[in-house]
Amino acid sequence: MSVATPRSNRFPLRLAQVSRLPQSGGDKALHRSGQSVTPVGLGLDSQGVRLQLVQRLRKGGVSHCGVLDAMSAVCRHDFLDSALAAQAYEDTSLPIGHGQTISKPSVIARMIELLFEGEGARKSASLGRVLEIGTGCGYQAAVISLLSINLVSIERIKALHDRAAVRLAGIRRDNIRLVFGDGMFGHPPNAPYDSIIAAAGGEHLPAAWLEQLAPFGRLVVPSRQPGSDRQVLVVVDRNEQGVRQSLHEAVNFVPLIPGVVV
Ligand code: SAH
Repeated sequence: MSVATPRSNRFPLRLAQVSRLPQSGGDKALHRSGQSVTPVGLGLDSQGVRLQLVQRLRKGGVSHCGVLDAMSAVCRHDFLDSALAAQAYEDTSLPIGHGQTISKPSVIARMIELLFEGEGARKSASLGRVLEIGTGCGYQAAVISLLSINLVSIERIKALHDRAAVRLAGIRRDNIRLVFGDGMFGHPPNAPYDSIIAAAGGEHLPAAWLEQLAPFGRLVVPSRQPGSDRQVLVVVDRNEQGVRQSLHEAVNFVPLIPGVVV
């Protein structure tokens, strides 16, 4: 896998490089980003709240510096409705509308860290070309885009896809391609992918994901164990011999659903 981190997203970012939100016109009590309006005065725009989150992640066992830096660089509150912004830096999943949830920061960090433990990403220190299934609000896409060459992210609910597009345009990530569609088919035009990550889980891994996984690539997805309601993280590695699967800790993701909602 040949991997070069794009110039504009080279990691780790220095704190001085972390972009500030633009102030909204005449209203000093609000910050605007995409369609969301976030109240200020909660301290959410201070780097301190994100550094506290990173400290908690580190205590919880996340040790990859690139992952921790990326989590400290992305403003999670920008991706949430203003009513939930005060909870943005707690380690909790939160509703994003349409019956969906943004994952807990610790789970996002853990899954990305697992991707980095794959053979290709370990050698190149980049996630390479990434496929994400389940854009949701776009937060995880923003984090991954800082750690990859490029990212294709698929969402099946049009309203979430559209809102994520506005939010991600607001922070100018030019290495993200958002796709509206059924992620169970992956996205063949940009395949193969060095890393594949899903934010929704079913009982079976769609064949397209395995087909679109590059040599030395790694896939990390939640999956329900046959005959049970329990979901675990499943890791699949592709090497010269073929694919190898391992099971990890229990998780609780929204279901992977076929088809789209327009
Ligand atoms: N990481 C996301 C989490 C989103 S929740 C974030 O940062 O917000 C999981 C998302 O997966 C939901 O938005 C849901 O609509 C989406 N999803 C479920 N099944 C899907 C499918 N077959 N194709 C694409 N997206 C799907």
